[in-house]
Amino acid sequence: MIHIRSSKELAKMRRGGRLVAETLQILAKLVKPGVSTRELDKAAYKFITSRGAKPSFLGYRGFPASICTSVNCQVVHGIPGRYRLEEGDIIGIDLGVKWDGYHTDAAITVPVGKIDPETLKLVEVTLEALKAAIAEARPGKRVEDISFAIQSTAEAEGFSATKNFVGHGIGKKVHEEPQIPNLGTPGKGPRLKPGMVLCPEPMINVGTGETDLLEDGWTAVTKDRSLSAHFEHTIVVTDGEPEIITAFDGGWYYNLINNY
Ligand code: MG
Repeated sequence: MIHIRSSKELAKMRRGGRLVAETLQILAKLVKPGVSTRELDKAAYKFITSRGAKPSFLGYRGFPASICTSVNCQVVHGIPGRYRLEEGDIIGIDLGVKWDGYHTDAAITVPVGKIDPETLKLVEVTLEALKAAIAEARPGKRVEDISFAIQSTAEAEGFSATKNFVGHGIGKKVHEEPQIPNLGTPGKGPRLKPGMVLCPEPMINVGTGETDLLEDGWTAVTKDRSLSAHFEHTIVVTDGEPEIITAFDGGWYYNLINNY
């Protein structure tokens, strides 16, 4: 069942979404060569809990941290640890918060220092894929219209979309129906209606869309170990333009990815 959220519920989710956006801004500014992914996790925990919210991922099915940090060929669900970022890396940071009973969730990919042009292109195309996905989130459209927008944006640039991980609905649980695949067929899947809250999350790879799971049981990497980037927003389907509730003032991330 896909929930339709009331205006009261959406007001709560907007507050949570703003906290997600603020936390990602703080973390993006901390990303520098020499910083460990564990330091980023600690900063996220401190900020989120200082506002009276909870990190959605901490303890989720046993996940041991407040954020996922996925570096280079890691696609999603990387566990923060001792790894220190190096110049030229890219790091995906994914986080959710639970506030007033409702979750919101977003992810960004941030360059570490100066990155090479091909890597920057991957990051930019992944952000474009998220924009294209959100543009499809309108009443009367279907879930796989979002999926196809992601897949076609990636493939037009010679990249691939990740098969094994999907976006999702969100609300009282961090993962709700519908699943939003990163590949799909236009006109298929559940019909979108105002009040649905969705998290499209393109994960785009330089090589193929196949993934492996590392021994930690969480970290997904590209099977061919090519680079992978990831962006996500929590959005609301409305009667008109989709509303992005995890962006500062409805803004985008160009200031974050262009800090190299
Ligand atoms: Mg998500």
